[in-house]
Parts: sequence; structure tokens; C-alpha cells
Amino acid sequence: MVHCVILPYPAQGHINPIHQFSKLLQREGVRITLVTTLSYCKNLQNAPASIALETISDGFDNGGVAEAGNWKVYMERFWQVGPKTLAELLEKLDRSGDPVDCVIYDSFFPWVLEVAKGFGIVGVVFLTQNMSVNSIYYHVQQGKLRVPLTENEISLPFLPKLHHKDMPSFFFPTDVDNSVLLDLVVGQFSNIDKADWIMCNSFYELEKEVTDWTEMIWPKFRAIGPCITSMILNKGLTDDEDDGVTQFKSEECMKWLDDKPKQSVVYVSFGSMAILNEEQIKELAYGLSDSEIYFLWVLRASEETKLPKDFEKKSEKGLVVGWCSQLKVLAHEAIGCFVTHCGWNSTLEAMSLGVPMVAMPYWSDQSTNAKQIVDVLKIGIRTTVDEKKIVRGEVLKCCIMEIMKSERGKEVKSNMERWKALAARAVSEEGSSRKNIAEFVNSLFNLQQ
Ligand code: UDP
Repeated sequence: MVHCVILPYPAQGHINPIHQFSKLLQREGVRITLVTTLSYCKNLQNAPASIALETISDGFDNGGVAEAGNWKVYMERFWQVGPKTLAELLEKLDRSGDPVDCVIYDSFFPWVLEVAKGFGIVGVVFLTQNMSVNSIYYHVQQGKLRVPLTENEISLPFLPKLHHKDMPSFFFPTDVDNSVLLDLVVGQFSNIDKADWIMCNSFYELEKEVTDWTEMIWPKFRAIGPCITSMILNKGLTDDEDDGVTQFKSEECMKWLDDKPKQSVVYVSFGSMAILNEEQIKELAYGLSDSEIYFLWVLRASEETKLPKDFEKKSEKGLVVGWCSQLKVLAHEAIGCFVTHCGWNSTLEAMSLGVPMVAMPYWSDQSTNAKQIVDVLKIGIRTTVDEKKIVRGEVLKCCIMEIMKSERGKEVKSNMERWKALAARAVSEEGSSRKNIAEFVNSLFNLQQ
């Protein structure tokens, strides 16, 4: 049996799509071992029973980035310790009669390819972000887009004209050390042309032109998404019951949603990493409670402390939870709108379940995704910020009402239905992504002949 090790970056938004991809490979008869860092593994609440789990070290086994104190220190140490401990793991598996044929690794870890090549095994890079965003970073790596940005309007092949507000946050100075993160995302392309395959969590119909262009540069590039659990998407896998790999306990929201009318609830979530300031959280709280709409708001424990003291976390009108099974929530018929930070997984999930979005990007690739959501795909509307970069409660309320109640909202919803159908088709038996996965799996089976 072909044995693949998968190595995502240890963050929810990276583990989820690569894990879903692995389940499809498993269904085709590939054996999977999921590898994560010791620090991330310690907090896993919900490791999938169907997939073997192993660990490597990032050099901070007790707390990852938090223990390191900042990204720079974390990455430097991880890049030293990671390759060594991955090689030790591959040796261990080899010795125990369980040799690895292929490593599928997060594009944030270009060093994995050298380790894989050292063992003479197939190296497959997995891009969790979409090709439009990757193309921006690739142009920086190629020296064709300079940082800091000199022009106001950025023109890149097969992308819409991009203004500063549409560019990834790593191009601009903030309180986070962005130069390290820019190096990380640009570094993805340092040896990508040497990878045996390049997989991307997007689908052909969604980014046709930029995908055709990418395939010309890297002939082994394939779009294989949306990587979403099959129990929600198309029931393509039997026995697909695990929600995913998560560091958070899932709260019980379904019951609360069950007695709400169809499409009457706005779901609000900013993903697994965004840290909003107190003023922003207050504005969101007042915006939501002033609107006429029911709301379900995911606010991680660290964020919840920023809520106004008089804000009710559980009422007939609204429910605040620390974490939920987002896919199950988005699939619930009571949900009519998704206020999102535009993380790429959340975007694909909303699209696959046909929920129109209010785009409120926070950092990283999210502004570029928002541009795609609002101006290219027209499946959402974007909030505006004031001079303090705060989305005011009134603005949020208007955006939600526009999606839920206006003619424009109806148009957005109907565009969303079209994209939902295209996403479903891409992963159906004859769909573009499924064909690409089949081609890859065949290449793995051919290794053993
Ligand atoms: N997610 C979840 N429950 C939540 C919030 C998020 O299951 O309460 C999942 C969501 O479905 C998505 C991932 O966490 O798969 C977040 O990834 P995304 O790229 O949207 O954002 P990130 O967390 O990387 O900023």
C-alpha cells in the first residue's frame, strides 16, 4: 500500500484542507500518516481516529509560537529543528517496516522537499491559499513586484487591478513583524519548481486564467479543491463522521439554530487566529445587538474578555460561543449571511454551502480574498473602515441588512448559488478537481509497479 506522510503548517486553517485532501486519498487506497508539531499535538481535542498521527519538533515543544515569543525566533528555530526531526521520523517509519513513499507538505515548509529528496521519495507541495494570492507572492519572489509598494494600483497577469486595500497585509508595516511573514510567504516559491506535484486548495473554474498561467510555469500544478469534508459537501465518502482536527472544543449551537426561521441568522466568525482590538469588538457587539437579525458569533476565549460588560452572551436574539463546527453551522438552513474575516477556508466553505458573505478582512491574504469575493465573484459585500481602521457597528449593521433584505442581497445570493453549483461540480466524480486527484493517485500507484 502506498504510504503518504502529510505535514501541514500547525494552524487550523492549514490543517483542515490538507486533512480533507488526505481523506480523499485514503478513500482511493493510500495510507496516510498526519504529522504535526509536538506543541500543536498536545492541544488537539479532536484527532481523527482514521488517520495515524506522528509528531516532529518545532523547537518549542511546550507552546509553539507563544513560547518562542515572536515569529522570527519561532521560524528560525523551526527551520533548524524541523528538518532534523522529520528525517528521524522517516527513518523510524522505515525501520519499523512502514516506509514512506511520498510527503505532502505545506508550502510554508520548502525545506521538506530537501528531506524528501534525501530519502528518494516523492515531494508534493500543498498550497492552502488561492492562486491569485500565490501569484502576488510569486511576483515578489521573482523580483517583478517590489516591496514597499511604489505604485498605487498594482497590475499583475490575470488578476483584477489591485489597490493597497486589496493587497496582503504583509506588504505593510503593522505591530506584527511583517518582514518575517513576508519572507515566509515569498519563500514558498524558492524550490517549488523542483516539487514532484503542486496541489492547490482552489478549483479550476474559480481561477481559470491564473490557473492556466500557473500550469504553464509549473506543469505539475493542479487545483484540487475545495477541500471540504465530504459529509457536508457531497457525502462522497462513507463513514465520514469526524469534524476535523481541532484545538478547540466544539460548542453546542445547533439546538439554538434549530428553532430559528430559515435564513434568519447571521453567522459571525473571524477564524482561528485574528485578534481584534477591544474597540472593534465593542463596535461589532453593538452593531449586532442593534440589528434586527439573530446572530451566532464565534469569539475565542481570549477575545471574549473584550466584550462590553453589559453584553448578553446568550439570549433569544444572539449566541456567543468559543468555537463551533463551522461547516455544520454554515450548512444549517437558519443561516442567511456570514460575516467573515475572509480566510480562504471560510471563503470556500461559504461558497460550497451557498451562504452570502459580509467581508471584513483582518490580515494576511484576507484583503485579496475580499477583493475576489466582492468584485470578481460578486458573492459578498465589504465593510468599510474609518480613519482608525475600525468597522463601526452602524456600517456592519447596514452591510448585514443589505445582504439579508435588499435587491443587491438577492443578486449576491443568486451569484452564490451559481458558485455553489460550480464548486460541487469540481469535486464530483467527473469534476476538474476529482480528475486531478485521480491523476495524482495513479502516479503514486505507478511507483509500486
Ligand atoms: N473554524 C471552525 N470553527 C470555528 C471557526 C473556524 O471549524 O468556530 C474552521 C473553519 O471552518 C475553517 C478554519 O477553521 O476551516 C479557519 O480557516 P480560515 O482559512 O477560514 O481562517 P484562519 O483561521 O486560517 O484565519
